[in-house]
Amino acid sequence: METQHCPGFENNKSLRVHTCKCQKCGKENEIFSDELNKKHKCQGCGNELDVTKCDCCIP
Ligand SMILES: [Zn+2]
Repeated sequence: METQHCPGFENNKSLRVHTCKCQKCGKENEIFSDELNKKHKCQGCGNELDVTKCDCCIP
């Protein structure tokens, strides 16, 4: 049996997944920690998420 690991897996180790609840429909969207400074749209309703208002992003 081969137990190979994907080389990219180690690089993603420090990444955290934040959960941002849509202010409009309440759907929880997963946002990676390195994408917090990008714009995100809710996967449920397409509303533009304001990640600065997410609990997840407040230090
Ligand atoms: Zn939504």
